[in-house]
Amino acid sequence: MLYLDNAATTPVRREALEAMWPYLTGEFGNPSSVHTVGERAASALADARARVAAVLGVRASEVVFTSGGTEADNFAIKGIALGAPRGRHLVTTAIEHEAVLQSVEYLTRLHGFEVSYVPLTADGTVTPDALASVLRDDTTLVSVMYANNEIGTIQDIPALAAIAQEHGVPFHSDAVQAAGWLDLSVPTLGVDALSLSGHKIGAPKGIGVAAIRGRLPIEPLIHGGGQERGRRSGTENVAFAVAFATALELAEGERADATARVAILRTSFLERVSALVPGAIVTGHPSRRLPGHASFCFPGTSGEAVLLELERRGVISSSGSACAAGRSEPSHVLTALGLPAELAQTAVRFTFSADITAEELEAVANAVAASVFSLSNIRR
Ligand code: PLP
Repeated sequence: MLYLDNAATTPVRREALEAMWPYLTGEFGNPSSVHTVGERAASALADARARVAAVLGVRASEVVFTSGGTEADNFAIKGIALGAPRGRHLVTTAIEHEAVLQSVEYLTRLHGFEVSYVPLTADGTVTPDALASVLRDDTTLVSVMYANNEIGTIQDIPALAAIAQEHGVPFHSDAVQAAGWLDLSVPTLGVDALSLSGHKIGAPKGIGVAAIRGRLPIEPLIHGGGQERGRRSGTENVAFAVAFATALELAEGERADATARVAILRTSFLERVSALVPGAIVTGHPSRRLPGHASFCFPGTSGEAVLLELERRGVISSSGSACAAGRSEPSHVLTALGLPAELAQTAVRFTFSADITAEELEAVANAVAASVFSLSNIRR
């Protein structure tokens, strides 16, 4: 079985599992306890936080551990918007993950915010001019994802964050899909807040990080004992924080090689599938896309049927958004880019791990062609 759905989730890396194991067993202390058992847990948590901060280029005090990417997005967006002294206007894009879209929707519904969606190019790119055109004097926050989970398009975050900064507006980026593939340095990106999720990079499901610049006033979502410097109450998940730090460091260490190698394989895969399947449409940007990401529409089929055919041939893929899997509506990302609903229903996504090989991708391309042919009347 070839698992090509790494944007949905990844297996926990052995190193992450081994690093967290002691904190689930012998070193089980509560970091808030004043005795030595608690102190050892507190020190492991502090160490994990410092390691994450080092990868992101922020202060350890700016790293907040959350229950995942969804909570990190909710916390950054609601926390900054509700903690901000300025305006009631939010700016985002229509192709964000639901965690961002629904956080924005909540703020408009219950807190009187207005939202503007930045116009996008057909391949899902936000241009600096398009962003500038929707900023207002009362804009509170801009949130633009670093890389899209469905089409893999990478945004020029430094250029976009610079525009927001010129207007004095805080900038958040959902970097969940970028981790392991793109530079996560907060100072280089110029962002004020970044969200990450552990299970996309070999840590367990249920751990994430919101890195938020210390100068920003932030309203907590979860109230209680004041952990995480009062920004996120609840006894900290020490074991998962340790696993997250371990997985993130490993992913960062392997990033340069993985990116260079996999991007070449991905480009040949896009070309091979396009050559083998007449009418196949590559969705997203041809080159400004995540190295391990290939997405298509196969007109005349249904994405879900292709996925099932592929699974029969030993290939695991995804039809549309991973996090919206199980729903049969067409992807909100593809429809936002102007694809008709019937075409968006034919979407299939392949997301690779860093150790994918050329031979495996050749076999996948052949399986894709066989699957599409078995479902449609396309013949070469
Ligand atoms: N943001 C993006 C871009 C994602 O792809 C996902 C998950 O697929 C999330 C946020 C949510 O992360 P989590 O599953 O950790 O809640």
